[in-house]
Amino acid sequence: QAKARGRNGYQFYAPSMTGEGVERLRLEAMLRRSIDKNEIFLNYQPQVEIDTGRLIGVEALVRWNSPELGVVPPARFIPLAEDIGFISQLGKWVLYEACRQMIRWEGQGLVVPKIAVNLSVKQFERGSIASMVADVLAETGLDPQRLQLEVTESVIMNTGDALAFINDLHAIGVGLAIDDFGTGYSSLAYLKQMPVQTLKIDRSFIKDISTDINDEAITIAIIQLGKSLNLSVIAEGVETAEQAEFLLRHGCNLAQGYYYSRPVMPGALLEDWQVKELG
Ligand code: C2E
Ligand code: MG
Ligand code: MG
Ligand code: MG
Repeated sequence: QAKARGRNGYQFYAPSMTGEGVERLRLEAMLRRSIDKNEIFLNYQPQVEIDTGRLIGVEALVRWNSPELGVVPPARFIPLAEDIGFISQLGKWVLYEACRQMIRWEGQGLVVPKIAVNLSVKQFERGSIASMVADVLAETGLDPQRLQLEVTESVIMNTGDALAFINDLHAIGVGLAIDDFGTGYSSLAYLKQMPVQTLKIDRSFIKDISTDINDEAITIAIIQLGKSLNLSVIAEGVETAEQAEFLLRHGCNLAQGYYYSRPVMPGALLEDWQVKELG
C-alpha cells in the first residue's frame, strides 16, 4: 500500500507487485497464523559441563513447521516476525512453552537445572517485559532462578531504557546471558553495569579455534574477561573433542554444540539424559 502512493498521493492503478513482494505478503500472513495453527514448536539443545559431561541446562530454539514450507529455521522467520510486529506474541509463546516443558520433564523424572530462552532486541522496544515474564513464571510454576534469558549485545548497547528493562528482569530473579558475545559492539563499561551472569562465546570464534590464532586469542580473552568480571562463560558451537579440550585447557568448562547434541525434541532429550543421569 505504501508503494501505491504516486506523485500526488494517489494512483490510478494497482501497482504490479513483484513476485517477491507477493511471496513476502503470503509468508507474513502464514506466519501470523502459525501460533494458532500449532505450527510453532521448540527444540532444546543441551548445555554441558565439559569435564564431567553433566547436563547443566538447555537452550530453547524455536522452529516453524509450515505445511507449505516444511520446517523453517529461525534465521528465516525471526527477522520477519520482528518486522511485522509479531515478535512479542511469538516471544511470549516461546517463553510459556519453554517454562511448561521444564515442568513436564520434571513430571517425567528429569530435572533440567536451567532453561535458556532467546529474546529479540525488538521485544525491548515496547516497554518492560518483566511483568510478562513474571506472569509466565507464576502461571507455569517455574522457579525464576531456573530461567536464563539470552540477549545480544545490541540490546545492551541500546542503552537508556534497555538497561532499566534488564534491571527489571534481574529484579524478578531470572538470569541473563549475553548471546553471541564478541560479535557485537558492547563496551566493557556497559557490561560492568549490566546484571548479567553469563557470556556465551559466539560460535564463529569456536569454529576455527585450532587453526586460527586470532580466534584462539579472542576466545581466551573472553574467558579471561568472564573470570575477571566473575561471570560464567559458555562456548557455543562446539563440534569437536579438540575444541572442547581447548576450552577446558583455557578455563572454560561449559559448552553447547553438535559435539554434545543437536537441538532435539523434548522426548529425545528425556531419553538421552534420563539414562545418563541415572547411570
Ligand atoms: P543462537 O541463540 O546463538 O542459537 C544457537 C544456534 O546455533 C542455533 O541455531 C543452534 O542450532 C546452532 N548450533 C548449536 N550448536 C551448533 C554447532 O555445534 N554447530 C553449528 N553449526 N550450529 C550450532 P538455530 O536454532 O537455527 O537458531 C538460530 C538463531 O535464531 C539463534 O541463535 C537465535 O538468535 C535465534 N532464535 C532461535 N530461537 C529463538 C527464539 O525463540 N526467539 C528469538 N528471538 N530468537 C531465536
Ligand atoms: Mg541463544
Ligand atoms: Mg548464540
Ligand atoms: Mg549464534
